[in-house]
Amino acid sequence: MSNENLQNDKNTAERQDKLIRCITSDGAVMAIAADTSNIVYKGKKLHHTSPVATAALGRLLTASSIMGVMLKQSNAAVTLRVNGGGALGAVVACADSRGNCRGYVEHPQTETTYYDNGKINVGAGVGNDGVINVMRDYGTGEPYVGVCPLFSGEIAEDITSYYAVSEQIPTVCALGVLLDKEDGEVLLAGGMLIQLLPGASDSDITRIEDNIKKLEPVTTMLAKGMSILDICKKALEGYEVEVLDEQPIDYVCGCSRERVIRAISNLTDDEIRSLADEKGYAVANCHFCNKNHRFTKRQLEDIIQARKDAAKLSDN
Ligand SMILES: [Zn+2]
Repeated sequence: MSNENLQNDKNTAERQDKLIRCITSDGAVMAIAADTSNIVYKGKKLHHTSPVATAALGRLLTASSIMGVMLKQSNAAVTLRVNGGGALGAVVACADSRGNCRGYVEHPQTETTYYDNGKINVGAGVGNDGVINVMRDYGTGEPYVGVCPLFSGEIAEDITSYYAVSEQIPTVCALGVLLDKEDGEVLLAGGMLIQLLPGASDSDITRIEDNIKKLEPVTTMLAKGMSILDICKKALEGYEVEVLDEQPIDYVCGCSRERVIRAISNLTDDEIRSLADEKGYAVANCHFCNKNHRFTKRQLEDIIQARKDAAKLSDN
């Protein structure tokens, strides 16, 4: 794809992101591919990220979306947290089981360094002295938490290693974020995950390994105009491929004023009053969408009063 076409893509960044799940007809291998260009574009816009922060956050958002749809339960959610001791600090992404995701990076303005080949050195920004946390919440109040030491801080390799070490599932993960070299704007982003299922044989392993060796980076395939189905078929070359489902995905923050009020209601009266600053305002900032939820002193008192009223009602 020419630079001019990429430029057009950028200008129509409001295109719909999608995710597809495929399985080989013999049930041996599963592949998921996602185009997350718009999600990463939104993430950059919300958090004003530097190139290395955009790349790290974009890769983790993409991974969360893929792992979200693998939850197989409608009200479930996954949270990925990577902290490798690098300048970016913690990078966090969450997704629901429809693949809608949101995230943030602790230090979004981190300076970007590059490899000799011109690629962004995400591993240096993230660091590799730390862990990746995978928290799956099935709505039961007791989330399942997995932890694995970081492999390189490049995120895709860390996800691959997480599956191998913590879940003993042979998995390959590839994630990519392509930025405009001039202005750091998001051109394309996407990812894929290939997983061997319990029925896989040694010959399946060999064939998938061969396919993976031949695979180009996800953003290169997207730039060529390949669809996410084309990408899955490429990864599963030599197999008959069945599509399990294909769905739109987006950057979605579920925060609302009501939710913030519920969180504030869990504090004591004194704690609620102490939230107001010298100008009389309390501001709750949402990490995920950077929205400021503002409350006046009067509104804080209303929250205290509403709680008292609710308690009286439940006493009767
Ligand atoms: Zn929010």
